[in-house]
Amino acid sequence: MKQYEKIPIVDAARRCGIALDSRTLRHREVEATCPFCHDHGPGKYHLSLNTATDQYRCTLCGAHGNSVTLYARLMGVSNREAYHALAREGKVYPMPRQKVSAKDAERQPLPLERRHEAYTAMLDHLTLLDRHRDNLLERGLSGERIERNQYRSMPETDAGRRLLAALLRSCGHELLGLPGFRTYYGEWELSGPKGFLIPVRNKDGLIQGMKIRLDDADKPSRKYRWLSSRDMPNGTRSYSYIHVTGDTTQKRAFLTEGPLKGDVASYLAHDALFVCVGGVNAIRGLKDTLVDLGVTHAVEAMDMDQLTNPNVRNAILAMRREVQAIKGLKYTKYTWDPAYKGVDNYFLSRVAAM
Ligand SMILES: [Zn+2]
Repeated sequence: MKQYEKIPIVDAARRCGIALDSRTLRHREVEATCPFCHDHGPGKYHLSLNTATDQYRCTLCGAHGNSVTLYARLMGVSNREAYHALAREGKVYPMPRQKVSAKDAERQPLPLERRHEAYTAMLDHLTLLDRHRDNLLERGLSGERIERNQYRSMPETDAGRRLLAALLRSCGHELLGLPGFRTYYGEWELSGPKGFLIPVRNKDGLIQGMKIRLDDADKPSRKYRWLSSRDMPNGTRSYSYIHVTGDTTQKRAFLTEGPLKGDVASYLAHDALFVCVGGVNAIRGLKDTLVDLGVTHAVEAMDMDQLTNPNVRNAILAMRREVQAIKGLKYTKYTWDPAYKGVDNYFLSRVAAM
């Protein structure tokens, strides 16, 4: 039987001198500084090392590959030389074939309708704290729109998080397969940082997943995180879902990054249709969403500062190519005064000036 060999990605990264975030060393995804884009600043960790598949990927510049190609690229040697260098260290383990697909065994989220039902029930049990409402009002949303979009605060205490899980289970909602929920010594609870929840919806308004706007982000570039309980007991991963907000009967859609940005910009632009990716590299499902909506005109409205960064610009170019491949679609770029970072900031400035 053919034996596959496991070349641990974390060992390869260490041998390349890549700095690892020690807080993540026991996780399935170990975070590290990106040697290709340097995270656009020191002390950040955008490179994710998957210890199950031994692949790396930078969430900022999109660089990706495996242990061998990482070493080869950074040390300036061929893949063959890289393989031999890594194998000489003795950290190459023979593995039976079936074990390679550890990723396939990962628990997948419940079907969309079940997630929507459970998350909707969850939102009914939660409230929005004043400091979170103030944050949303400052962005330009009205109190009425904040209600309608159903933003909610994460429960502040462990007891509150256990109670929420118990309430959902007593109403018959399945938590196994619902990203964000996990067991702790056998008891179900909601997991995640403190902050407020942003429902991420499909074109029919169904909640696909949740993004959390963190109260305390250790890195400014990571203020938003998917509600997920990946790698936790009975936990479930999330995907980076595409968010649809605004009037879905419109044939012109603005493309931007971040569901909250889209909600705000859509509200300020009289319910203009916005289709929002979770990150410039997270374009899975974008094309299908636009096709399903029957969009005939896509308007790119990504953050202005991204245009100055070559790696992000490349990701945006990839997104553009993907969308432009839709037959009969008109594609334009929306530009504004770069003093305003996002399209939401720009729209807000215009409303304020009126
Ligand atoms: Zn990078």
